[in-house]
Amino acid sequence: MAELPDNLVMPFEIKPLGVRGRIVRLGAVVNDIISRHDYPMPVSALLAEAVALSAMLGASLKFEGKFILQTNTDGPVDMVVSDFASPGKVRGYARFDGPRVDELDPVTPGTLLGKGHLAMTVDQGVDMERYQGIVPLDRTSLSEAAHTYFARSEQIPTRLRLSAGPLLERGPRAAQSWRAGAIMVQHLPRHGGMSPMRMTSGDAPDGAEEPLTENDDWVKARLLLDTVEDHELLDPTLSPETLLYRLYHEDGVTVYPPIALERHCTCSREKIGDVLRRFSGEDRTDMIEDGVINVTCEFCSTTYRFTPEEAEGKD
Ligand SMILES: [Zn+2]
Repeated sequence: MAELPDNLVMPFEIKPLGVRGRIVRLGAVVNDIISRHDYPMPVSALLAEAVALSAMLGASLKFEGKFILQTNTDGPVDMVVSDFASPGKVRGYARFDGPRVDELDPVTPGTLLGKGHLAMTVDQGVDMERYQGIVPLDRTSLSEAAHTYFARSEQIPTRLRLSAGPLLERGPRAAQSWRAGAIMVQHLPRHGGMSPMRMTSGDAPDGAEEPLTENDDWVKARLLLDTVEDHELLDPTLSPETLLYRLYHEDGVTVYPPIALERHCTCSREKIGDVLRRFSGEDRTDMIEDGVINVTCEFCSTTYRFTPEEAEGKD
């Protein structure tokens, strides 16, 4: 059987419903990111979901740029960082307290994170304004937080799903391999005015909650999205086109050329050397262990080794 396309973001549109969306499939790329760390299973799953979410949202960048997703919370996982650099480079890491993760009950993405916030930053270079959206987290999953963001900041009706987990690979060597998937639909009717809007009624007393009406097409699209099973988002034998067809064949789906995703890191010996030289001599001396300074990149776990002379900038 020919291998299905994997590690991609595929944009799609359901024209009759005024709905656009994106689907993310991550196999080898997310497995590479997870394998570079030695995280407990639930922390790996949380990071894999974050990578899928940042790829899905970052793929909407219209220009060269970077999309950075970062949580800062008081839970056992106090930080998750995942970034996307156009056209399709992803990386990520998590910071956590091992014993607190082990003691956690129940273990959910929400309880792992705890209370704090999720920041989503769009950085499109020096000529463009840096944009940041911040959503509170309170034992909230990443998908719930993203829903809050779209409802409050963008006011675009949005529904998304995230899934991540290790799959047992078939074959002579039963190895575990991480996968992650995501799907999102948004109601972006061509002529505007069709999306959910507040009904203004002259009779409503001041300050009363005005009822929100939802467009029927949008309701249909989001209810169908809710029928997606986690395993469908992860299944490497199910193509994104097949999954979209299963969901939206009645109205017809148009798929657009996918964006290929790859793991990357921007760290280099030169950059880390520059950082080391900015420390005071005393601080650098404190970093010496067994005669050398080792610096490990948090994103990709590459360790760079410097002699004290190299760290000082002497060759
Ligand atoms: Zn790195």
